[in-house]
Amino acid sequence: MSQKPPPKQFIKTPINGTKFTLLVSSAKGGVGKSTVAVNLAFALQNIGFKIGILDADVYGPSLPKLINLNEKPKSEDGKAMIPIERYNAQCMSMGFLVDEQTPMIWRGPMVISAIKTMTQKVLWKDRDVIIIDMPPGTGDTQLTFAQEVKVDGAIIVSTPQDLALLDVKRGIQMFDKTGVKILGLIDNMSYFKGDDGKEYKIFGESGVEKTAKEFDKEFLGNLPIHQDLRKSADDGKPLTHSNPNHEVSKLFKVMAEKIKQSFH
Ligand code: ADP
Repeated sequence: MSQKPPPKQFIKTPINGTKFTLLVSSAKGGVGKSTVAVNLAFALQNIGFKIGILDADVYGPSLPKLINLNEKPKSEDGKAMIPIERYNAQCMSMGFLVDEQTPMIWRGPMVISAIKTMTQKVLWKDRDVIIIDMPPGTGDTQLTFAQEVKVDGAIIVSTPQDLALLDVKRGIQMFDKTGVKILGLIDNMSYFKGDDGKEYKIFGESGVEKTAKEFDKEFLGNLPIHQDLRKSADDGKPLTHSNPNHEVSKLFKVMAEKIKQSFH
């Protein structure tokens, strides 16, 4: 018996030019999602993967700043864009297309159309994995990716305080409902290590790990609040790229190794 094709609205188009597509998501803004996404991308590069980074935050793109690059992508046919290469990664962001200080005052359908352009009209080439830095929340961008793009997994980043965790739970349920596999949760800004060697748990303890357990998801690990991570982000040189032996880069490496297990 021939199988019925899925209804039109649920046909998931793969991103061409990559073997795997990973979403890095957070339910709340300001938890360090973009910083984690980019450092995780270079941690995957450090263990041998050819990476692409797609900044899907149409309203607040961070990638141009995080890799210190602001160049307009070229197009040979006036339709498809060639991603911009930086530190051996292919990169694309709405921030490359508009002026840094221009606010994007867009309605939902325009956002959806921009996401489709960035997933279907970018000439990604020969990538093992594309890491997608999602905007915070559970809005149009999330829904477009979940329903219309072939995604291999999502990683959720949060800080451990209750207020952020409430939103994480919503994020988990959204991916579960839309059939996107959650590869794991990351606890960012878990602690700050003082000069006295003590770890100060500023946002509370183990919140993300407990949430992962509650929803039967993998916990990928903790990242400290570290000045070098913030500084390297501000300098446009991701820490895992500029200093792969840094203690924080090593934590990203452990996470990259865990994520690698789900590539097959
Ligand atoms: P989001 O994408 O969730 O809005 P960002 O990645 O833009 O968050 O991070 C917000 C700010 O926090 C940035 O200045 C970034 O450098 C800083 N930051 C993120 N994670 C850490 C960390 N673990 N330690 C220190 N600073 C961090």
